[in-house]
Amino acid sequence: MTEKIENSDWRVNYVSVSSQINWDEYFMLQAMLASYKSKDPNTKVGCVMVDAHNHQITMGYNGTIAGIDESLIPWGNNREVPLEHQKYGYVIHSEANAISHAKGSLGGAKVYVTLFPCNECAKLLASHRVKEIIYLSDKYHDTQENRIAKKIFQMSKISYRQLTIPASTIESFTAYLRSLLS
Ligand SMILES: [Zn+2]
Repeated sequence: MTEKIENSDWRVNYVSVSSQINWDEYFMLQAMLASYKSKDPNTKVGCVMVDAHNHQITMGYNGTIAGIDESLIPWGNNREVPLEHQKYGYVIHSEANAISHAKGSLGGAKVYVTLFPCNECAKLLASHRVKEIIYLSDKYHDTQENRIAKKIFQMSKISYRQLTIPASTIESFTAYLRSLLS
């Protein structure tokens, strides 16, 4: 047996390898997948929180109160009607859901979220002493809630940065998913 190993070219197994995606892309793709689970017909948001060792602590997406019949919720986004007939009165944001399901401390956590947090979630995130926010979209950047959120992060010394995922990464990931089906 020993002789066989010596005689074969064992070097053939020492090939160079690398991951298809980096940690930022890996966790943002998870946040994107979480958002895909949301039933909200207009805005789907996903969030993943990880510790300093890149281990996932928790994840969440925007949805309603656990245990209630979600078909009773007014899912439309018309703000003209009274708040009790708006989804905004009932929906829990992805960050708040992730926080409420976390099994461990969020101190020092990195937060991957598909949409820049609102001021309500910023308050919660800052109170849990997260370290960094990595977001995909900041489409509400000109709103008051957004400005307050940024102010809260600055006061709490929580850094934030936008992540761009190249279309080629999504394409190769999609091709990979398809390959799993064959
Ligand atoms: Zn929020």
